[in-house]
Amino acid sequence: MTEGKKRLVVVVPCYNEEEVLPETGKRLNDVVERLVEAGKIHDGSSICFVDDGSRDRTWRTIEDLSLRLPRVGGLRLSRNRGHQNALMAGLFQTDADWTITIDADLQDDVEAIPRMVDAALEGVDIVYGVRRERAVDTRLKRVSARGYYRTLAALGVEIVYDHADFRLMSRRAVDALKLFGERNLFLRALVPQLGFETRIVQYDRADRSAGVTKYPLRKMLSFAFEGITSFSTKPLRMVTLLGLLLSLCSAVMALYAIFVRFEGITVPGWASTVLPIYIVSGVQLFSLGVIGEYVGKIYIETKGRPRFLIADQIEARQTDPSASVSTETSERPQTIAALVSDRP
Ligand code: UDP
Ligand code: MG
Repeated sequence: MTEGKKRLVVVVPCYNEEEVLPETGKRLNDVVERLVEAGKIHDGSSICFVDDGSRDRTWRTIEDLSLRLPRVGGLRLSRNRGHQNALMAGLFQTDADWTITIDADLQDDVEAIPRMVDAALEGVDIVYGVRRERAVDTRLKRVSARGYYRTLAALGVEIVYDHADFRLMSRRAVDALKLFGERNLFLRALVPQLGFETRIVQYDRADRSAGVTKYPLRKMLSFAFEGITSFSTKPLRMVTLLGLLLSLCSAVMALYAIFVRFEGITVPGWASTVLPIYIVSGVQLFSLGVIGEYVGKIYIETKGRPRFLIADQIEARQTDPSASVSTETSERPQTIAALVSDRP
């Protein structure tokens, strides 16, 4: 009896994850199956693996999984678009009542999913998975992560401490997210902007189950930067203040120079002439760089390019949209043409 129950879709972004996927598929399938049996979710609930343009056999693995496990479906993006866009693709492609996003590497504890569903059953719209401790991380990652979260908070970016992209969202929360048209994506700061009732579910973060991280230092730094520049214009303000402060200092210096000149105490030296030039041009270049960052973002946003294109799609066999309590089934599946014409 699934009448009136909510349909859950678990969205899993995958980039070169062939090693870990069979295990992830099995574990997620078990959890979803258990929830269905417990009568907590609709029987049409499923798992959607989003292949983010992988170079290995990830898509083949997803196809195999979908043949073995009736609840497994997949989405293949036309090329690598990055973790955040892969998440968006999964979120926007499903019409489920509840969507849970989780990484493919089993670092997020799948056993937190039933607790998320319990919260959703109480009517909570957004449930954040928050890691209890960072024992498996290196010291450097722990310290840098803490510093980063603090910096974000100081810059006025609203973010849930130690929450990554493991979360449950209700239908209306996902629909609300669709209204945010930005291309520079940093979901963990975007979702708190939605409002609605939220709750936190804690879990212990494990080591990667197989494979290596798909976030090398370069990507991680760029992602961290994105979080600041996409959500805060405070750096711009800070540059302005710095410029102001420096102008004041120069005024004082100028007065001092005039004083020295007329008193004839000493001949002004080379350093006092050349140093300010260096300092000021340094600050100017830095300021230009910061401004450029934001101009670059405006440039990307104004183009309004589609976030992703779908190359292939496998429907989970278990899913029967007509049996769903959701009303918005007519729009799926979206075609590439539809997505392209989505441009403003
Ligand atoms: N991922 C993705 N596209 C990318 C990079 C990563 O879809 O371009 C996925 C990846 O497969 C994983 C998740 O994003 O499911 C998080 O990546 P990873 O576990 O490598 O990051 P870490 O946990 O090391 O920060
Ligand atoms: Mg990981």
